[in-house]
Amino acid sequence: MDGYTGTLYIDPEPELLKEYEIRHQADTEEREELLRLRNQKDVTADGKEIRLLANIGNLDDLNTVLYYGAAGIGLFRSEFQYLGRENYPRENELFRAYKKVAEDMEGRPAVIRTVDLGADRQADYMAIPDEVNPMMGNRGIRLCLDRKKMFKAQLRAIYRASAYGNISLMYPMITSEEELDEIEELIREVKKGLDEKNIPYKDIRTGIMIETPAAVMISEDLGKRVDFLSLGTNDLTQYTLAMDRQNLLLKHKYNDHHPALVKMIRMVTEAGHRSGCNVYICGELAADSNLTEEFIQMGVDGLSVVPACVLPVRKAIRAAYADEKNRPEESGEDK
Ligand code: PEP
Ligand code: MG
Repeated sequence: MDGYTGTLYIDPEPELLKEYEIRHQADTEEREELLRLRNQKDVTADGKEIRLLANIGNLDDLNTVLYYGAAGIGLFRSEFQYLGRENYPRENELFRAYKKVAEDMEGRPAVIRTVDLGADRQADYMAIPDEVNPMMGNRGIRLCLDRKKMFKAQLRAIYRASAYGNISLMYPMITSEEELDEIEELIREVKKGLDEKNIPYKDIRTGIMIETPAAVMISEDLGKRVDFLSLGTNDLTQYTLAMDRQNLLLKHKYNDHHPALVKMIRMVTEAGHRSGCNVYICGELAADSNLTEEFIQMGVDGLSVVPACVLPVRKAIRAAYADEKNRPEESGEDK
């Protein structure tokens, strides 16, 4: 079975077997070389430190974050506690999960993305009315601000868990500062409630996912209100190209390397820095090691990728030059 292509060979010829043995050997060597990077720093060839984090979607993934030596979690997709069940999770259940994240990370940063439900992430109990265009519909922060009881339970759980480690909070699908006004009001209420009961929490860092063109265009203003921005290139691609990221008919037209995207990443990085924010990428594009050097040269401060891509991206970071001027001149063949 060729696991890369999904091809099953029944009774393969000896030449084919030989070819696969050679490829298997090469894969093993490459993997061993990567595993040697597990404890290495994420620093470019000219000495710039880059924050390399991992994306996870459930508690089982916590071990792989540590195994591959990521600096922490750059995107914890919190939807898993809401899907495939009969009713909303209770605050205590959420709290226990976030506390585990905080504790297992042992001081490493863990960015919890508040729940991004709606569109393709729904369960019956949520009773989300049918929408003609769900991807453009009531999802992400919009749904949370519509269902404040649900959202407050999550915010409380995150703030309670913050006492146990290095947690940050990140909001998905932001399009306006008015949404931030509403979120900040809710956070004030949550903190007041915790204070009244003497429940400990930290004043945690907050961040915004930049995954709509609107957020790109106002990223400098958004950045003034939080500590970091994180580019969600998966949604940003679909909303910029106006192409559904799951529509198979568009598979060959969907281009997440579109020059518009690359330009937006540069714009957001510069705008974020002007407003004093660190800027990360947490969409799938962050794992494309062919772009690592370009991202670093744009000034992106960190990349968050699926755990299995941590080491390949680390390799690319260590080979990259943050400043072209520092790249040694290529020696000629005759020298
Ligand atoms: C994104 O949109 O790039 C992202 C990281 O969020 P998700 O893939 O969970 O929508
Ligand atoms: Mg997204």
